[in-house]
Amino acid sequence: MRNALGLMLASVGAAVVIAAVWYWTSSPRVELAAPGTVSAPLAERLAAATPGKALAARDDVATTAASPEKPVAPPQKSACANPDALGVARVVVIDTTGGPGFGFEHFKQLDFLADKEVVLTFDDGPWPGNTPAVLKALDDECTKAVFFPIGKHATYHPEILKQVAAAGHTVGAHTWSHANLNTKKMTEQFAKDEIEKGYSAVKLALGAAPSPFFRFPELQHGPAAMAYLASRNVAIFSCDLDSFDFRAKNPEQIINTVMTKLDKQGKGIILMHDFQKHTAEALPALLRRLKAGGYKVVQMKAKAPLQTLAEYDEALIKEMKVPVASTRPVSSVVQTVSE
Ligand SMILES: [Zn+2]
Repeated sequence: MRNALGLMLASVGAAVVIAAVWYWTSSPRVELAAPGTVSAPLAERLAAATPGKALAARDDVATTAASPEKPVAPPQKSACANPDALGVARVVVIDTTGGPGFGFEHFKQLDFLADKEVVLTFDDGPWPGNTPAVLKALDDECTKAVFFPIGKHATYHPEILKQVAAAGHTVGAHTWSHANLNTKKMTEQFAKDEIEKGYSAVKLALGAAPSPFFRFPELQHGPAAMAYLASRNVAIFSCDLDSFDFRAKNPEQIINTVMTKLDKQGKGIILMHDFQKHTAEALPALLRRLKAGGYKVVQMKAKAPLQTLAEYDEALIKEMKVPVASTRPVSSVVQTVSE
């Protein structure tokens, strides 16, 4: 009896030891933990180490301790906190040479989305309340979108546009003042001014160059502006699927429009507006519906940023009466000639 009990205890002990060894050495677990956590900023690591995430926190320690010889990886965003998130299924990089067009409503050449793939796009921001709410909804689902801000709005709310870029979304532009570039009296010069000033405003707000992605206001593709954008190697975005969120009476209407069209078409670039309150309200539920429907988000990024034109950058800074932030070192501006 005593022997039997001893044998049982020994077996249990052995099992515990085996389980522990397996737990600490299991290689997939180590691989998964390594990239996102070793170099995560302190705040993110603290956020991850909540009681519910104790396992993840323990993995960090094991990974770090087990491989002290590993070089420190460059900073990366921590893994998605939502295990059931919509996420990003695929990231594509766009070579914008020659101004390719996207969105089957106007451009049929580049059919790059697979069945059930969608691209989320938002126009007309940045705007207080609505844009931050859109950003939160996207962040909660660990997913990414393309934003087409209006230049003027970017100058009103640069701090919000900075948040859009900081969250890892792609930022293009949508003209300076949302002018229709397809009217009869449209001149090449006016179209150029609207486009370039819009980009310069986005750059001024971000403190960084925007992506060479453009969406025409009201999807009005003027021929002069089209030719100009092609010469600037800017990709033109129409859409596959218009949410018509700007005329929706409530958030539900937006969700229904998008899901009905999407279930019919099977995939597409979705046009929405982070400027619109109903869109911001609809987005959490809409993203859940996309996930439930088996849709996958593709993020579009530009191969290279857009070089804004210095004359427009300078004119805008003057117009905005922004104090010019000199990039020259003090010693090149102020020189001591006698002491
Ligand atoms: Zn617009």
